[in-house]
Amino acid sequence: MQDFRNFYIDGTWVAPARPNDFPVFDPSTEDPVATISLGTDADVDHAVAAARRAFGDWGWTDRQLRIDALDRLAAVYERRLDDMARAISTEMGAPIDMARTQQAAAGLDHLKAFSRALADFDFEHSLREDAPGQRIIHEPIGVAALITPWNWPMNQVCLKVGAAMAAGCTMVLKPAEVAPLSARLFAEFVDEAGIPAGVFNLVNGDGAGVGAALSKHPGIDVVSFTGSTRAGIAVSKAAADTVKRLSLELGGKSPNLLFDDCDVERAAKVGTLMVLNNTGQSCNAPARMLVQRNIYERVVEVAAQTAAGAAVDLASKSGKHIGPLVSAQQFERVQAFIQAGIDEGARLVAGGTGRPDGFGRGYFVKPTVFADVTPDMTLYREEIFGPVLTMTPFDDEAEGIEMANDTQYGLAAYLQTGDNTRAARVTRRLRSGMVQINGASRVAGSPFGGYKQSGNGREGGRWGIEEFLEVKAVSDRAA
Ligand code: NAD
Repeated sequence: MQDFRNFYIDGTWVAPARPNDFPVFDPSTEDPVATISLGTDADVDHAVAAARRAFGDWGWTDRQLRIDALDRLAAVYERRLDDMARAISTEMGAPIDMARTQQAAAGLDHLKAFSRALADFDFEHSLREDAPGQRIIHEPIGVAALITPWNWPMNQVCLKVGAAMAAGCTMVLKPAEVAPLSARLFAEFVDEAGIPAGVFNLVNGDGAGVGAALSKHPGIDVVSFTGSTRAGIAVSKAAADTVKRLSLELGGKSPNLLFDDCDVERAAKVGTLMVLNNTGQSCNAPARMLVQRNIYERVVEVAAQTAAGAAVDLASKSGKHIGPLVSAQQFERVQAFIQAGIDEGARLVAGGTGRPDGFGRGYFVKPTVFADVTPDMTLYREEIFGPVLTMTPFDDEAEGIEMANDTQYGLAAYLQTGDNTRAARVTRRLRSGMVQINGASRVAGSPFGGYKQSGNGREGGRWGIEEFLEVKAVSDRAA
C-alpha cells in the first residue's frame, strides 16, 4: 500500500493542512493500492500563493528557458515511461501494453509538441504593415487551475501543463481523485527536471472540495477544465464571480457515419474497436454508429462479431484485450445504461448486463452492441462512457448529417466513404470540433476540442498555448 498523502507545493512535498485520507483502488482487483489526501481550502491557498509568487519570474522568462524546461521534463518522462504506464494501468485499468503505447505515450507526445509549438509561436508582432506603431503582444494570463479527469490521465495533464508552461503561466493541478497515481509520478518528473519552485503545484482532492475551491479562488486567473458537462457548468458558475478565463473540454456522443460507398467490413470492424478502446472511456469515442440502410444489416453483423470476439482481461496482463472500467460507480452507471437499452426496446446483438464469464470481481463489463437504437432512446442521447456501441440506420446523406448533428454535444465526428467529394461536403456540415475521415487519426499538436456542450476550449499545439495567453494591443505615436 503506497502512501501518497503529501502534495507538491513550491518545489517540495508537503503534508496536507489536515488529514483527510482517501483510498485508491485497482479496478481489476478492487484492492486498495494507495492512500492519498483530499485537500482543503488551506492547501489550495498554500498552492495558489506559491504559484502567484513564482509567476513574478516565470511569466517574464525568455522563451528559450521555457523550451529547455519542457525538453528536460520530456526527457525525464521518456526515461520513466514504463513507470508512468504502470501507474496509469494500476489507477484506471488500462491494459499495460495500451497504457504504455497509447496512454503514457500521448502525454509525452504532447510535451514534445508544445516545445515545438513554443519555438514557432509569435508572441509579438505588428498589427498590419500599413499601421505603423500598432503592435500586438501575447502575454501569460497568470496563475492557472488545471482540473483533469481519470480516463486519459496523462494525456489531459500534459495537454494542460505543457501549454501553461509554454505560455508562461504558473499552475495548480488537481487530478481526478480516483486516479491520482500518474499525476503524483508526474510531479516527481517535474521535480527531477528542475522546473523552478512554484511553477507547478499538485493538490489532490475531490470536485466539491479542491475543484470548487480552485474554480472560485481570487488568486486563480484561468481555469482549464476537462471532465463532464455537469461539472464544467459548475466550474463555469463558480469562476464567474471573479471573471476568470475559462477553457472547457467536456463530454461527447460522437457520430460515426458509414456510407454505402465505404470499405464496409473494415469500417464496421474498426468503428467497433474504436468504441471498445480504453473500455469505452474516451470522450471522443465514435459511440453512435449511423449506417446507410442498404449496408446496415451487414454492418450490424460485423460489429456484433467484433464485440463478441473482443477479449476482456486484467489490466496487468500483456496483450490486446480491454481492461475494467475505472470504478464501482462507473460500473453501476454503465450497467444501468445497458439495462435501459434493453428496457427501451433496442436490439441487443452482443454483450449485455453483468460481468463477462470468468470474472467474479473487478469492474469488468461485456463489450456490448445495440442495433435499432432510435433518437428517442436514452442510449442515443447520453454519453455512456463504457464499451457500448449503438447503431441506427439512415436513408440518405441529408438524413445522415441531420442525425449526426442531432445531439447536445459536438466533440468529434467520424465519416466513412469512398467518395472524396462527399467527404469534403459532409465534413463542412458536421457541427463538431474534429472530423476523422476513413480512420485517419490526428497528430500531436493538432487542436482538440468541441462545439456546443462539448466545451469551448482547444488543447494541443499553438491553439493550446493560446488558451493561456492574454492579448495586448499597443499603439505608439513615436513609432
Ligand atoms: P467529472 O466531471 O466527474 O470529473 C472531472 C474532474 O472534475 C475531476 O478532477 C473531478 O474531481 C472534478 N470535478 C468534479 N466536480 C467538480 C466541481 N463541481 N468543481 C470542480 N471540479 C469538479 O468527470 P469524470 O467522470 O472524471 O470524467 C469523465 C468525463 O470527462 C466524461 O464526460 C468525458 O467525456 C469527459 N472528458 C472530456 C474530454 C475532452 O477533452 N472533451 C476528455 C476526457 C474526458
